[in-house]
Amino acid sequence: MAFDEGEPLVRFGDAIHDAIETKKVGGALSEETIATVVEGYTGCEIPDYQMASLLMAIFIRGMSYGETLAMTSAMADSGERYSFPECVDKHSTGGVGDKISLTSLPIAAACGAPVAKLSGRGLGTTGGTIDKLESISGFSVALSEERFRRQVQEVGLAIVEAGDLAPADKEIYALRNATGTVDSLPLIGASIVSKKAATGAGYLLYDVKRGSGAFMKTTDEARELAAMLVRLSEDLGIRASALITDMDNPLGSAVGNALEVRESVRFLKREAVPEDLSHEARYVATRLLDLKGIEDPSRVVEDALASGAAHEKFREFVRAQGGDVEALDELPISSEVREVMAPRSGYVARFGAQGIARAALALGAGRQRKGDEIDPGAGVEVLTKVGDGLEEGQPVARLYGGRNAERAEALVREALEISGEPVEPAPAILDSL
Ligand code: URA
Repeated sequence: MAFDEGEPLVRFGDAIHDAIETKKVGGALSEETIATVVEGYTGCEIPDYQMASLLMAIFIRGMSYGETLAMTSAMADSGERYSFPECVDKHSTGGVGDKISLTSLPIAAACGAPVAKLSGRGLGTTGGTIDKLESISGFSVALSEERFRRQVQEVGLAIVEAGDLAPADKEIYALRNATGTVDSLPLIGASIVSKKAATGAGYLLYDVKRGSGAFMKTTDEARELAAMLVRLSEDLGIRASALITDMDNPLGSAVGNALEVRESVRFLKREAVPEDLSHEARYVATRLLDLKGIEDPSRVVEDALASGAAHEKFREFVRAQGGDVEALDELPISSEVREVMAPRSGYVARFGAQGIARAALALGAGRQRKGDEIDPGAGVEVLTKVGDGLEEGQPVARLYGGRNAERAEALVREALEISGEPVEPAPAILDSL
C-alpha cells in the first residue's frame, strides 16, 4: 500500500491501520509500512493505543527476517547516526557483575583496535557501564561530539552516555515495557541492533548471556537471538560475531559500581581475580581483535596485559575523561559491611545471579525506577564460586551499603545452593558464532 505523501496525518493513520489489520491475521508488513509507522510513532503522530495494538500483534504473530530488518533500519534512521567504521564495539545483553567492557575494551584499544562506545545506565537488576564509570571521582560521561571523536582518535578509547541515538527505540521500548511485549525475538533484535547501527562502529561482538541472571534463560534461546543479531548487523554493513556466555552465577566476584571498577583494575594489573572473569575478558578482547583482522590476536592480548599496556590504556582513558586516576586502585566503597556465612559444609552448586543482583539493588547499587539515586560504594562481593568446597561458618559473601541490609542478607542466603557432592563449574563461554 502506498501512503498519501501530502497529508502526514492521513499517511500515518493509513499506515498504522494497515499494519494492525495485516499483522493481526499473520500477514507480512511492507518495508514502506514499517518505515512510516516508525516515523509516525517517533514523531508522536501515531497514538500509543494503536502502536500497542501493533506490538501485541507482532508479539503473537511474529515477524519474518525481512520485516525485522526493515524495522531495525527504520529505527536506526529515526535520529542522528554516528560513523566510526574503524572502531570495534561490544554489546552485552546484560549480566550480573558484568565488567567485560571495563576489562576487554582497554586491552583492545591498547592493541590497535579503537573503541567509540555509547553505554547506558543500569535499571532494575541490570548494571550499567555508565554508573560504574561514574563511581570514579571526576569522570565525565557527557563529552561533546567533537571531544568524543578527538578522544577516540588520540586515546583509542572513549565511552559516553548514549544520548538521542535511535529515539524510536526509546519510545517503542517504553511502550513494550508497559504492554507485555518485551520478550519478542524480532522486537528485541530490532531494538538492540538499531542502537548499534546508529552508533556506527564497523566491527561488533555480541555477548549474549543465558541463565537465571539473563534475559534468555536457555542456551538455545540465546543462540537464536545471537544468530539474529549477527545477521541483522551484517546486513546493515557491520562485521559482527557473537558469543553465548553463562549468567547463572555472577561474573567474577564484585557486583556493584565501585566494587566492579576495583575488580577490573585488579584484572588489568594482573592481580588475582576469579578465573571466569579473567578468561572471558581475554576471550572477548581476542575476538574483537580477530574481527578487526589483527593477526595472532591471543598473543597480542597477552602481550598487552603482560607489558602493562592495557592497564596504562585504562588510566589514559580515565584521565582523558576527567577521572581521578590516583584514586582508581582504592575507589571509595561503603564502610557499612557485613559478612554472610555458609550455613553448612559442602560444595557450591550455584550462587544465583538473580538473587545476588537483587541483593545489590536492595543495598543501593542500582535503581528500582529511572532517576533513583544510587550509592556507588554499595554492592556484594561473592567470596566463593561454583565448585568451591565450603566449611560451615566460612564467609561466602560480603555486603556493602547501609540500605536494606537484612533483606540483602536474606537474598544472598537464598541465592547460595550447596551440594553434598563435588560440583563441576560450567564453562564461562558456552558457544560462539
Ligand atoms: N535490550 C535492548 O536494548 N532491547 C531489548 O528489547 C531487550 C534488551
